[in-house]
Amino acid sequence: MTNVLIVEDEPAISDMERDFLEGAGYNPFIAENSEEALHMMRSEKIDAVILDVTLPGEDGFSLCRKLREITNVPILFAAARTEDSDIVRGLGLGADDYLLKPLKGTILIAHLRAQLSVHMRIKAEQLNKSMPEEGITIGDLIIRPKARQVILNDKIVLLTGKEFDLLYFLATHPNEVFSKEQLFEQIWSLDPIGEPATVTVHINRLRAKLKRHPAMLMNGLKLFGAPATGFMEIDSFEWAIPSDEELYTIA
Ligand code: CA
Repeated sequence: MTNVLIVEDEPAISDMERDFLEGAGYNPFIAENSEEALHMMRSEKIDAVILDVTLPGEDGFSLCRKLREITNVPILFAAARTEDSDIVRGLGLGADDYLLKPLKGTILIAHLRAQLSVHMRIKAEQLNKSMPEEGITIGDLIIRPKARQVILNDKIVLLTGKEFDLLYFLATHPNEVFSKEQLFEQIWSLDPIGEPATVTVHINRLRAKLKRHPAMLMNGLKLFGAPATGFMEIDSFEWAIPSDEELYTIA
């Protein structure tokens, strides 16, 4: 049920707006002034607000500014004040729409529906953004850089920080070939100690961790090794060491 708060001090108008809303399947709440409106906003789950401008005490403009500090639901002014400057002001305070009284039911509902749908779309987009990251997928391997997590066939592979950095760097540069000096420069450059030979050690550990996984072998991932060891078929994931020189890549 979509809850809509009507802020209106004239009972004849709020009754009419309530009827329009109920007729369209919405659940209306009525507040007669700013104080009541703020109270309802905090105590009920309100999905949209229809707001009069001329209210006893604090006016609708001021209330709109306060509402915007606590909610991002659609706010539609319904006002008899029709000066252009009022409309500009109302929208400038964060209202989503400005309707002119006297209101027609069909027009009110059409505007409300439109604003609610924009709001839902924005919410859905925000929700999508906050979903867990998809990461980089190479065959059955998923690398999630934000979580620093590597998943192979739905199972987490435990990697050290540098092993992860190395795998992630290669995965984000597919089909590029790097020497161990280049990889050392990329991944260990800020370390005060270390030497390029450490790259070989880490590559070998990575290779062992990923190769040891039985699914890796079953899914035909290609893993190129140094000429001495040849290569093993393991999928679309590969490290190439095509010659005596150590060169690494993921293709
Ligand atoms: Ca009024």
